[in-house]
Amino acid sequence: MSDGPQRITPEVAAIAAEAARHLGWLLDAGVREVPHPAVAPIAPPRAPDRAAPPEPAPPGPVAAPTHPVRATPGRRAQEGKGHALTDKGCGSPALLAVREEMGECTRCKLAPGRTNLVFGVGNPGAELAFVGEGPGADEDAQGEPFVGRAGQLLTRMIEAMGYRREEVYIANVVKCRPPGNRNPEPDEIEACEPFLRAQLAAIGPKVIVALGKFAAQTLLRNTTPITRLRGRWSEYQGVRLMPTFHPAYLLRSPEEKKKAWEDLQMVMVALGKRATRAPRDGGTP
Ligand code: SF4
Repeated sequence: MSDGPQRITPEVAAIAAEAARHLGWLLDAGVREVPHPAVAPIAPPRAPDRAAPPEPAPPGPVAAPTHPVRATPGRRAQEGKGHALTDKGCGSPALLAVREEMGECTRCKLAPGRTNLVFGVGNPGAELAFVGEGPGADEDAQGEPFVGRAGQLLTRMIEAMGYRREEVYIANVVKCRPPGNRNPEPDEIEACEPFLRAQLAAIGPKVIVALGKFAAQTLLRNTTPITRLRGRWSEYQGVRLMPTFHPAYLLRSPEEKKKAWEDLQMVMVALGKRATRAPRDGGTP
């Protein structure tokens, strides 16, 4: 056997790059200690195109939906029409029922401008759900929430909490892209939010994280600035809700990552995860 230098395989390089991105987020957030690998399992490397992986089976029983969804799930999908349990964000009969109720939705004026209706993605029995505002250009093109640069940062935030992206659920207040990335308007929210409520009822998370001012204000029905909402527990439909900064804002204002990380650590504690310690000086590297 040769004693020469070992070649780094593409798989090892991909794992190293993923680990570097993960540690980069932690450093940006001011973290100096990370949980032992036994506490935070190592995620398998993702395919480079970040295509949606198969969704895992729910870890426990799925909460019964408390919404007035009437569609019968599965039948059309089994016949090769409509939607299926394997479609993005539809991984349980209750979620599929919500998706089938939406159909090719034209309930508001955002419908004509969409490429894809961005329903959601993730574990149908997730204990942790993230809710953003609405799809952007990348999300509209791919039919999945949070897949652009902000989405990559959200993935690192999720992984820093000790989860894989596939283990949580991610959705938006509105499912179709507002033109020019403007904020959704009240009539659009009114038309679409019942589906978010039904989605969350179907998932039954223990905690919801509202990402950014718009999602937090919409879910909490107030106009309080995100700087005052973040870091404080509230409630949405009987579920504990933690508002924090939107990943897109954190990309523009990386100095705020430390505060976002403090918010996420409160969520981790609430979910029985081990929090990591911030530096004593409270600064960011
Ligand atoms: Fe329907 Fe919601 Fe899209 Fe409006 S934003 S068309 S209510 S899915």
